[in-house]
Amino acid sequence: MQKILENALEIGRKYIPEGECASYIPELAKADKNHLGVCIRTRGMETFSAGDTKERFTIQSISKVITLMVALQHCGFDKVFEKMNMEPSGDAFNSLVKLDLTSDKPFNPMINAGAITTAGYLVPDVSFEDMLNYARRLCLDKDIVMDEKVFRSEMDHCARNRAIAYLLQSKGILESDVEKSLELYTRMCSLSVTAESLAGLGLVLSNGGRHPETGERLIDKYAVQVAKTIMLTCGMYDGSGEFAVRVGIPSKSGVGGGILAVVEKRMGIGIYGPALNEKGNSIGGSHVLEYLSKELNLHMFAAE
Ligand code: GLU
Repeated sequence: MQKILENALEIGRKYIPEGECASYIPELAKADKNHLGVCIRTRGMETFSAGDTKERFTIQSISKVITLMVALQHCGFDKVFEKMNMEPSGDAFNSLVKLDLTSDKPFNPMINAGAITTAGYLVPDVSFEDMLNYARRLCLDKDIVMDEKVFRSEMDHCARNRAIAYLLQSKGILESDVEKSLELYTRMCSLSVTAESLAGLGLVLSNGGRHPETGERLIDKYAVQVAKTIMLTCGMYDGSGEFAVRVGIPSKSGVGGGILAVVEKRMGIGIYGPALNEKGNSIGGSHVLEYLSKELNLHMFAAE
């Protein structure tokens, strides 16, 4: 396994020069684009790591998976999807064009409009501290904190997300306080994780929401089922279709360079590689996952 991970990194590293770190949040542009790490945590409680797996970076959009699951557990499916769809948008994660012109609902909870709506469901009753505790437990990483610098940097440059949030309010979709919803959403994006934490989250999700060692239920199993399905169809921005064909593992990426991947009933995979491709996915990380999928027969539709 270790050799396979090293080979995967070698392949992934070749693509790094073609990628760039996100810069629309200035603090993210400071990342070292040459970092690349992959961690696998299995149901048998083995951990395999290669490359930069202890490096902390912000979770960004991968937090949308946690927020969605907590909202589903807290408010129920009908409420969460009353004013939100579950379809791929085919547009950029921060687009507001279709929301204004052709649809009265955000396309799905993995794009910003959907995630801000979801945060709005939580704002009245669930504090950021509660959400931080969920993140620590679900990622099997008690050291997760909020990266204050990245949070400030994003709050100072979030005109677009603020525009989305007010548009949602104007359409009667976001009923909670707009600024509080935006702040909770942005705080969740600023949680600092490692590739290992993402592998931990993947492992918990692959285990239906139970702690892999103790069996303790950490999150509602139906919430996990919904989240994994939406990760498969919408988790890799507007590259989700091709990624599903090539890799075939429900995954979610973030502009901080992380990828969370869930191999059903087998393992969680966490990736860190801040150089992004044109779709906003870690360029090295996407190739690492494609290689691992083939080498370890992880594609969900692979023949035995
Ligand atoms: N905080 C980022 C934003 O809202 C997250 C984007 C992402 O990772 O896709 O723009």
